[in-house]
Amino acid sequence: MEFDYYEILEVSRDANSDTIKKAYRKQALRYHPDRNQGDKETEEKFKQINEAYEVLSNAEKREIYDRYGKDGLKGMAGGGFSGGFDFDDLGDIFSSFFGGGFGSSQKGSKSRYKYALDIEIGLTLEFNEAVFGCEKEIKYRYKTPCQSCNATGSKDGKKQTCPKCGGSGKIGIQQGFMQFVQTCPECSGTGESIKDKCPECSGNGFNEISDSIKINIPEGVDNATRIRVSQKGNRYEDMSGDLYVRIVVKDDEHFLRNGDDVYIEIPVFFTQAALGDSIKIPTLRGDTILDLPVGAKDKQQFVIPKEGVKNARTKQLGNLIVQISIQMPKKLNDEQIELLKKLQNSFSVKSGEMATDKGIWDKIKSWFS
Ligand SMILES: [Zn+2]
Ligand SMILES: [Zn+2]
Repeated sequence: MEFDYYEILEVSRDANSDTIKKAYRKQALRYHPDRNQGDKETEEKFKQINEAYEVLSNAEKREIYDRYGKDGLKGMAGGGFSGGFDFDDLGDIFSSFFGGGFGSSQKGSKSRYKYALDIEIGLTLEFNEAVFGCEKEIKYRYKTPCQSCNATGSKDGKKQTCPKCGGSGKIGIQQGFMQFVQTCPECSGTGESIKDKCPECSGNGFNEISDSIKINIPEGVDNATRIRVSQKGNRYEDMSGDLYVRIVVKDDEHFLRNGDDVYIEIPVFFTQAALGDSIKIPTLRGDTILDLPVGAKDKQQFVIPKEGVKNARTKQLGNLIVQISIQMPKKLNDEQIELLKKLQNSFSVKSGEMATDKGIWDKIKSWFS
């Protein structure tokens, strides 16, 4: 099944997220299975639309798709595709469109859960921890249904009709000349409200449990990498969501990372740059020799292959890119002044004149002769 995500949503490759969302709504409405029951072709199309939107609505996935195509997404940390489509997300889109009209027929619709099952937490790593991988113990909290009130949130298990919506679970709101139907915020669409709140969960119907887990951070992770820890998310009945750990990497004082490549600035004395030299420089994993040619220029870059970061997905090593920074002496003693003047003379550079004039004086003279 080969199809292009941009084509399926009928958007250009540089479409912004707003355009993509609008295009998705349009296409998803057109091919929604509720409107085209039993039609296999539309069902397939609907799946494709959702797969395309799942990727193109996620900046990270979209970038990978743009660069490497679908193959790039397969081995992605964090799972790549969720397999089917994301009903929660779809529920959001349709409820904002139709006042939750589609909600009732959805598998796993929002009203069944009081909370999303998946959790995302951030994890900050030192530069070297991300480059070389590490083991981390992370603390987090997950939600689980309250046992003492059987997840109702009600002390006596009793509920009354929601006074805000009168039990319908929906309220109408006026926006300009348009009337919208929205899920009742008071009862979240259930149509019921609680008289006496359960003291255990304060009427929430769930409790938060503190937990910790050890996870292996693979070598080469970078900012925005998401690591999925299966079944460690929120609990509901016999279901467990996943825990997503989003990586944030601290900057290093010396090494600057750009994808799998690493940059380092190396100070070089002006005489070393003039003479050429072989200089021992640090790398991520130790040291190497930087060979400077005679007359190396300030900010000149040298690529040292395979001394960068090992890509977490492809296992390929990036490069180390060395940029030299030419250092001039800030103070000179008498002897150094003598030596430098001698050196200058040997290059026939005269004090008070430009180092080279490329005939500019003769040219200016010729304009006025
Ligand atoms: Zn409770
Ligand atoms: Zn209500």
